[in-house]
Amino acid sequence: MFGNLCLKCPDEIRGKCCYYTYTAYTTSNEKCFILLKHYCPYLNPETKKCNIFKERFKINPYCANIKTSIELGGLIEGCKYLKKHKKQLKESPVSLQIPKNIRSIDIKMIDYLNSISLHDFLRLFYPKLIML
Ligand code: SF4
Ligand code: SF4
Repeated sequence: MFGNLCLKCPDEIRGKCCYYTYTAYTTSNEKCFILLKHYCPYLNPETKKCNIFKERFKINPYCANIKTSIELGGLIEGCKYLKKHKKQLKESPVSLQIPKNIRSIDIKMIDYLNSISLHDFLRLFYPKLIML
């Protein structure tokens, strides 16, 4: 994303809202974290800006607005929009850190996801984006 508050977003997390996430289960809870190899094909990972910002909802059927992202708990800790809309937060926000004590099946899945290319990741999980 790249709204007004994104200009004030800390460099280490700016644009991470456009990376794909994985929900891992620990012995006590679940935690969503960012897959650092896999991001929206419309994100420029160097500038950390969306290449289609003005038309993103027309072009990318998976792109969510800020309100929806907050409601779904899809924004990362430290996001300026999360801070602004704190009271609407329903779930733990997304983290850059893989949780400790996660299930072995999740570890295997993470290893697998980290081993495949972005193209293969999109082909498997977001085939509509490959066809665009
Ligand atoms: S994490 Fe939040 S503030 Fe940072 S770029 Fe994404 S939407 Fe903007
Ligand atoms: S289209 Fe992709 S890069 Fe652009 S804001 Fe949406 S998720 Fe981010």
